[in-house]
Amino acid sequence: MKVGIMGGAFDPIHVGHLLAAETAREACGLDEVWFMPSHVPPHKQASGVSGEERLALVEAAVKSHPAFRSLDLELRKGGVSYTIETVRLLQERHPDVAFYFIIGADMVAYLPKWKEIGELARRLRFIGVARPGTPLDLDALPPEIAGSVTVADMPQMDISSTAIRRRAAEGRSIRYLVPDAVHDLVSRRGLYGVQP
Ligand code: ATP
Ligand code: MG
Repeated sequence: MKVGIMGGAFDPIHVGHLLAAETAREACGLDEVWFMPSHVPPHKQASGVSGEERLALVEAAVKSHPAFRSLDLELRKGGVSYTIETVRLLQERHPDVAFYFIIGADMVAYLPKWKEIGELARRLRFIGVARPGTPLDLDALPPEIAGSVTVADMPQMDISSTAIRRRAAEGRSIRYLVPDAVHDLVSRRGLYGVQP
């Protein structure tokens, strides 16, 4: 079985995340994609929205896709989670699964700084997708890292959680930047300042 991990703060999850996952799933023939919200320490929270709430939004977003799941591993663990540690744990628990890690261009550029990137790159393949703001340039990476990245062709979407939070705080609509199910939940719970 081939599983893609889509990690992020998901504060909130938006259609850019979902299209990145779907593009990667199709390009690499993944059986499933697991969306894994990171633990964000309270003092670093950009939004005042809790981990439980971010997870609930992820669950609402992935529900309609038969191959998408949520994974609360890093949230439950708490503290700082390095991807290498999470991946070691996942591979211990699921020895029969080939794991992929899906990331946007901003994260691809940052890969050389990831903890124990050499071992991580031997343990799994990265699937990189285009994102406005950072060129997706594998030639800029050391060859041993570039060799572990597959590029999946994604229409660029100039969408970020930061911009969505800002719009919501200004009282502007965030409909269609997030799936309907996420919009319903956000407005029902009054998250990000969105009014019912
Ligand atoms: P923030 O503005 O809070 O940083 P974000 O929109 O960047 O939020 P993250 O949760 O930081 O979302 O990102 C999780 C993953 O999704 C990262 O690998 C990121 O590159 C990728 N990603 C986020 N938005 C997009 C997008 N519009 N297109 C492609 N990839 C994206
Ligand atoms: Mg980000």
